[in-house]
Amino acid sequence: MKELKVDPIRNGTVIDHIPAGRVQRVLAILKPRSSDIVMMGMNFSSRAMKKKDIIKIEGRELTQNEVNSIALIAPDAKVSIIREFKVAQKTKVEIPELIEGLVACSNPKCITNAEPMQTRFKLVNIEKRQLACQYCERVFMADEMDHI
Ligand SMILES: [Zn+2]
Repeated sequence: MKELKVDPIRNGTVIDHIPAGRVQRVLAILKPRSSDIVMMGMNFSSRAMKKKDIIKIEGRELTQNEVNSIALIAPDAKVSIIREFKVAQKTKVEIPELIEGLVACSNPKCITNAEPMQTRFKLVNIEKRQLACQYCERVFMADEMDHI
């Protein structure tokens, strides 16, 4: 492959190194607005990963909360903010120690599913990417959780 067949963007965000097949889940987190121009690339070859997906969003810079949400399902993603066709900022994608209000607890008996309250999870194992609910103490895999 000579070059990526995705047009460069002037201003916006590039999310690279998304594990192949997860582009739809990342998009579900980003909830593109009607004014967003979104370009997707799937199954690109990558040296580090066998296959990867890429998303480019014109006219939008991701917030830290959005980056943290992406970290849960695409831990090796690289997020770049683009201004005037240049990389203005690279945002580190990593699961924060405390994840508040980003994902739902899958335990139907958890109080967070009964009361209108913010969920709160703690990162308990970085390698296995396990999160524990601070209310019911159940442990979940980061990439199996439902994003709010
Ligand atoms: Zn819970």
